[in-house]
Amino acid sequence: MSYDPDNIFAKILGGEIPCHKVYEDDDTLVFMDIMPRIDGHVLVIPKTPCRNMLDASADQLAAVMATVQKVSQAMMAAYGADGITLQQFNEPAGGQEVYHLHFHILPRREGDKIRPPGQMADHADLAAEADKIRAALA
Ligand code: 5GP
Repeated sequence: MSYDPDNIFAKILGGEIPCHKVYEDDDTLVFMDIMPRIDGHVLVIPKTPCRNMLDASADQLAAVMATVQKVSQAMMAAYGADGITLQQFNEPAGGQEVYHLHFHILPRREGDKIRPPGQMADHADLAAEADKIRAALA
């Protein structure tokens, strides 16, 4: 399996498709998932191409995980969360739908429920969630 440079996250990185950006550094980008499973659901991606965890370099994985931790810590404060759920899928059989490496971060509170997949969020709501996480990162 090779990297498809026309995948949707490559288009977000290239500025062809908008996103609600939460954070970026030299190596990684964080933005709101357009179909959030819970309020605050973000995606962390490397800025350089790789299809998923299986073909990622050690440097790409290290950069992405450092950002996952940084944003997760900010989310614990921003959402008064009790925990964090990470999700990461590889290839169709593993549940992957977009073929550019990404980690899902979901802030969790005791007893909350994850929404079913496929529910598009309102853009104003996503913008508000992005503002909230950015404020906690500042
Ligand atoms: P996975 O590949 O991990 O199964 O899922 C891909 C994730 O990307 C899904 O949670 C989906 O909601 C999200 N997604 C798909 N297309 C877009 C998009 O155009 N923008 C954003 N922000 N998220 C997307």
